Amino acid sequence: MKHGHSEVSATSCIYCGLPLNASGEGDHTIPLAYGEFFKARNFFGLCDSCHSKCDQGAAQLLRCGIESEYRDYATLRSERHAKRRSGMSKGAMGAPAPSRTVEIDGRHLPVRQRHGNSVEPSDCIVFRRADGSEATVSVFPRMGARALARKLLAAGWVEGTEVFVSVAEERHAEIVSMLETLIPRASYRETSVLAAGVHRVKGVNVYTVNTHYFRAIAKIAFHHYLCWSTTQESGREPRFDEIRRFITTGMAAQPPVVSVGDDSVPPPESPADVAHIVCFGRTADGLVGLVHLFANEDTKTRPWLVRLTHDEISDDEVPDVWGHAYVYCDIVDGGKPYAGVVREIRIRHG
Ligand SMILES: [Zn+2]
Repeated sequence: MKHGHSEVSATSCIYCGLPLNASGEGDHTIPLAYGEFFKARNFFGLCDSCHSKCDQGAAQLLRCGIESEYRDYATLRSERHAKRRSGMSKGAMGAPAPSRTVEIDGRHLPVRQRHGNSVEPSDCIVFRRADGSEATVSVFPRMGARALARKLLAAGWVEGTEVFVSVAEERHAEIVSMLETLIPRASYRETSVLAAGVHRVKGVNVYTVNTHYFRAIAKIAFHHYLCWSTTQESGREPRFDEIRRFITTGMAAQPPVVSVGDDSVPPPESPADVAHIVCFGRTADGLVGLVHLFANEDTKTRPWLVRLTHDEISDDEVPDVWGHAYVYCDIVDGGKPYAGVVREIRIRHG
């Protein structure tokens, strides 16, 4: 809260209209966990109740979306918030944490509990079902033979099926002897073992999100617009009714957040920089914002288009396509590291 001030002198909550407590904390446009940006403007016009509703969406954005992969980048630069990362592998608001598989011998094996960018597969047994599909049964620490048998049968194993064993070396003998007792006539094959060293392996990451994720994206666009536009709008205007309802409840006649192709994404200031990009423009029937978090040539995050209004807007209301890039760089202020600077960006039409 130390850096930057909103130019919107709100006295009531933009979502529910309740008068604001003068000492109340405001909401950050870009989640703090994505780094605190030097010169970033904050938006203060939120009551505690609406703030916590916004946090529900942010929790899913931070824990479940592809952007969660890039949070290390932010926390490296903002050590104060490093503690907030504990318990990150849990999912949020009905969506699971991202899952990762690694391809070994042509099979996609689940990756062991994530430690940074580990691609070590978790202990598992793989077999092909009668219908040709492949089943993967995870073997947990201290799992007994009976529990393992139940899991195999539940996954569709039938007698005679060849089983592939992929477990850590120290547990290998234990698991195989367990299997030999359970299913004496099955044949076992081991997946190949990678020698220590650097390997290029194929893998698949799966990100699952629901409406809460999109509420968080919409909030970033809306608050950013209110903080940085020169229109002096409070956010309570009727033309923002729909976007406000979506941000607090997830309900909307038409989803206001849609994916856009890479072509329409403005490049960051420098291709080497990673940046959050939020910019705005007109369409025939309203104001739209573009939100692209952790944008850069190498990252795989996707940009989202957020429809903020449905009304016609006058030509001078949004002067051009304009916006800001929150660029990561090494800025130290008073001995404390900050994630970077906020730079104005302007994107030319056509
Ligand atoms: Zn409120």
